[in-house]
Amino acid sequence: MRNSNILVVASTNRHKFEEFQLLFSRYPDIQIAPAQEFLRNAEKLGLVETSEHYKENAIAKARACNHGCHYPSIADDSGIEVDALNGRPGVRSHRYSTPKLGETQDQANIKKLLEELKGVPAEKRTARFVCHLALVMEGKTLHVVGTLDGTIAMEPSGIQGFGYDPIFIPQGQSKTLAEIGNEMKNKISHRAIAVMNLMDEIKSQELILAKP
Ligand code: IMP
Repeated sequence: MRNSNILVVASTNRHKFEEFQLLFSRYPDIQIAPAQEFLRNAEKLGLVETSEHYKENAIAKARACNHGCHYPSIADDSGIEVDALNGRPGVRSHRYSTPKLGETQDQANIKKLLEELKGVPAEKRTARFVCHLALVMEGKTLHVVGTLDGTIAMEPSGIQGFGYDPIFIPQGQSKTLAEIGNEMKNKISHRAIAVMNLMDEIKSQELILAKP
């Protein structure tokens, strides 16, 4: 493998990395690698996520990773926006709740969201996932967005995916993202659309990731 083909993913979220791996497998010239392979303190990349704006957080993470490893680096900042909550939890989706002893962050987040939506009828539970994706390489920064519309279920179902997947029903589907599985999720997700937009942008700017 030529080093010039590597895109380093500035995230220590295993689920996100696995999704990126599948999404980039459509582009055989590109091989992605986790930041941990190149940076001693990769778990500290999230510390630069201090903004209230997804775009700034994604760029800051990709920049910090590129600064440390000198390979083209990508990072996403994503979240779920619920209309009945005026767009919350949004950019704070990960740190939305405080887990109780024995609870995971994802379980606590889902519980809090369902509590906040108690009494809100199905037709008013509209929401969307948003993914801001940044690429930093050789002094150049690209930024793209992908979204996925849907609704928040009344209760969690399914065991696949991560985060809010067990309570998110994509538009046009009757099952949650955690039920429909990764193959379908990776066709329609906010992250899948952001990756497609990034590859279009790379092409249109004629950026060279892989040597011919
Ligand atoms: P961050 O981008 O690492 O700040 O985290 C975003 C948070 O949004 C995650 O921890 C999840 O809770 C949620 N999230 C982002 N993308 C997804 C997804 O594809 N499925 C479910 N939850 C997601």
